[in-house]
Amino acid sequence: MTKKRVLVTGAAGFLGSHLCDRFIAEGYDVVGMDNLITGDLKNIEHLFKLKEFEFYNHDVSKFIHVPGNLDYILHFASPASPIDYLKIPIQTLKVGSLGIHNCLGLARVKKARVLIASTSEVYGDPMVHPQTEEYWGNVNPVGPRGVYDEAKRFQEAMTMAYHTYHGVETRIVRIFNTYGPRMRLNDGRVLPAFIGQALRGEDLTMFGDGSQTRSFCYVDDLVEGIFRLLHSNYASPVNIGNPDEITIKEFGEEIIKLTGTSQKLVSKPLPKDDPKQRKPDITLAKKLLDWEPKVNRADGLKITYDYFKTLSSEELQKTAYHRFE
Ligand code: UDP
Repeated sequence: MTKKRVLVTGAAGFLGSHLCDRFIAEGYDVVGMDNLITGDLKNIEHLFKLKEFEFYNHDVSKFIHVPGNLDYILHFASPASPIDYLKIPIQTLKVGSLGIHNCLGLARVKKARVLIASTSEVYGDPMVHPQTEEYWGNVNPVGPRGVYDEAKRFQEAMTMAYHTYHGVETRIVRIFNTYGPRMRLNDGRVLPAFIGQALRGEDLTMFGDGSQTRSFCYVDDLVEGIFRLLHSNYASPVNIGNPDEITIKEFGEEIIKLTGTSQKLVSKPLPKDDPKQRKPDITLAKKLLDWEPKVNRADGLKITYDYFKTLSSEELQKTAYHRFE
């Protein structure tokens, strides 16, 4: 039997690199692609020695050329933290629109199945709780998150259009907050922010009164859900996330306990359009994929903290914006 070959866009990013690992472990040939704006080659450097892995430094917003066959395309290229997409809004819009158009065009030619990384951000600041796939969302298109949220919503629409009009096999995963090793320490997201601050001996910056909620999924659980969804025959969006909901204040307290820092939570202004609550309804994923998260937050946070502790003090001191200055 010939080996299956998969293209992962955003391969040097947090989720992309874990997906590359998983597909290599499952016996696939993996083509990684990344323009390294927010990704880091360090996340995939262990793969470069493998004959099953090849890498293209390429911006998928431009025409994509990959020689040879492709069975699957996973579109994971995109800035994904509020700080990143505030800093690079146009690239964020382009990778979600032009980028997916190129991926879908490539899929047509290669007769490949496409899975796109969508997001709980398509629900915006949700009026329905927990969020089911049927909910259409409450998004401010011109707010600070609009560039990301609307790009992802457009990406879903484009993917469905290629599915219905061109018959391309497509899958859509709506990813809720996910954490684990290889998150960029200073991408501004709450977990790396809190752990980085604890490691540097700074106070933890809680936005607002910390009563907003999130539900954090460990990366291995997410990858398992994505793997199952890719091999399912379901083309409509599926939520993958961990429904264990927590306030940001409680989350900060957990990080303080885990790291043993003597610092405290300090309140900072709540960013505009910051969703007040977020929790996936995963009924569909359970039924369709026989999937649910297995790693509890205490175990997942410990693994993630151990990873961040291995980073050098130089890496620890980097500011969130170092790549863009
Ligand atoms: N947050 C915080 N302190 C930080 C960074 C984020 O309190 O230093 C809050 C943020 O306001 C939001 C939540 O943590 O309510 C999750 O933010 P993140 O940027 O990780 O992801 P989001 O789910 O908002 O996209």
